[in-house]
Amino acid sequence: MQTIRKKLSVLFLLCSVFTIIIITLFVNRTISNKFDEYVVEIQNKRHQDIVTHFSDVYSNEGTWTSISGTELIHEAYMGNYCLTLWDKDKNYIWGMNPEELDDRSHLKSMVVQDQGVFSTKTFEIKSEGVIVGYVDIGQYSSVLLTKEDINFKSSIIRSIIFSGMITLCISVGLSLVFSKHFSAPIKDVANMSVKLSRGDFDIKSIAQSNIVELEELRKSVNVLAEKLNHQDDLRKRLITDITHEVRTPLNVLQNNLEAMIDGVFPVTTERLNNLNEEVIRFGRLLNNLNSLKEFESEHIKQNVEIIFLDELLIDISKDFYTVAQAKNIQFNFQLIPDQQFTISGDKDKIKQLFINLLSNAFKFTKENGMVDVALYTDRENIIVEVKDSGIGIAKEHLPFIFERLYRTQESSGQVEGNGIGLTIVKNIVQIHGATIEVESEEGIGSVFTIVFKKNNHFFLH
Ligand code: ADP
Repeated sequence: MQTIRKKLSVLFLLCSVFTIIIITLFVNRTISNKFDEYVVEIQNKRHQDIVTHFSDVYSNEGTWTSISGTELIHEAYMGNYCLTLWDKDKNYIWGMNPEELDDRSHLKSMVVQDQGVFSTKTFEIKSEGVIVGYVDIGQYSSVLLTKEDINFKSSIIRSIIFSGMITLCISVGLSLVFSKHFSAPIKDVANMSVKLSRGDFDIKSIAQSNIVELEELRKSVNVLAEKLNHQDDLRKRLITDITHEVRTPLNVLQNNLEAMIDGVFPVTTERLNNLNEEVIRFGRLLNNLNSLKEFESEHIKQNVEIIFLDELLIDISKDFYTVAQAKNIQFNFQLIPDQQFTISGDKDKIKQLFINLLSNAFKFTKENGMVDVALYTDRENIIVEVKDSGIGIAKEHLPFIFERLYRTQESSGQVEGNGIGLTIVKNIVQIHGATIEVESEEGIGSVFTIVFKKNNHFFLH
């Protein structure tokens, strides 16, 4: 197994080396070819100059002598080529000895590229359009290069190789930097997931990246960590809260029963009723926990049917008139007539949803307050609003009130409850493809708005 950084560095490096080698070879070859073409051109021009020189010599002298054009000998030795002059009938006039080219190598300023077989080329010498002789130009190589030529060529090759090396060094550096740039956030997120898998949720990745996908990955793992952390807190609190909720009624029962057994308390109907209430409360908690478990399991049993929300709400509201009267709460039910309020759903669950919302509304509304239920539609939705003038919910609690066992500090001391009602509400809303929103202001009241889609049967399994 290799690290992502190593893998990326090797990949970058291989690509760079490959590219640099190809470019170097290509540039090198192109320059060499062009240079050779140039040298051949120069050589042809020199041959042409030699022929013209002999032609001029003949034109001036009118005939060939054994010294015609011998002034070229020195230059020919220096240039490492060999001249032989013939008249028009191919009779030998003068010529240089090819052997001497080698003997005089200490004087050479020409460098023979491919030291090999001596070969000659014959050129016609013309004067006024008539062939007056021939000159052989012989050399040991097809292309003759001067030392300057060679130096020039090799300095170019050296520069190409040098720039190749420099580029290679730069790309090694860049590949290290880039691979780190890519790998650092990935490594960070990978370390973070390892920690998350070990149950260490209190972590955050801070290695920001300007690569969109990596940044999204980093952010979503951060969100995941936050959620897991929150869930972990909830789980811990769930255990503490359940223990607390269970212990309280049990203690009350135990103490009272012991006192009655010991004869400290007389056994009266009132006492027994109080104890029974504790047992009922205890049973309610267990029921709530049980329904929560059912909602949070993957497969929720549903008996889907057509529900007339108006009828259902009127029915449920009846159960709350007594509480309303007892607390002198003004309870209004507004419904726009002649409209269809039908949805598909599980009637019992929808009933439980509104019972939970209304129970909260009445529970958290003090005497002489008001609770309003409104039912209306828009083009695509059926909307139910449950509004109260109760204690309200502080802004910092609002995002959490649908969490399991979440109760605000204000409510936990004074009002009976166990922080499960709204979690169940949220689950019921979700399985019906609806949404729930809450607006609340401390001391003023709260509004819970549930929006059902008119064609919500698509959402139901
Ligand atoms: P509980 O059994 O405590 O009522 P819920 O899940 O129904 O549990 O509600 C969670 C918390 O949200 C409550 O403890 C309370 O703090 C807050 N809450 C819910 N409904 C209202 C409301 N209508 N007015 C004020 N606070 C509310």
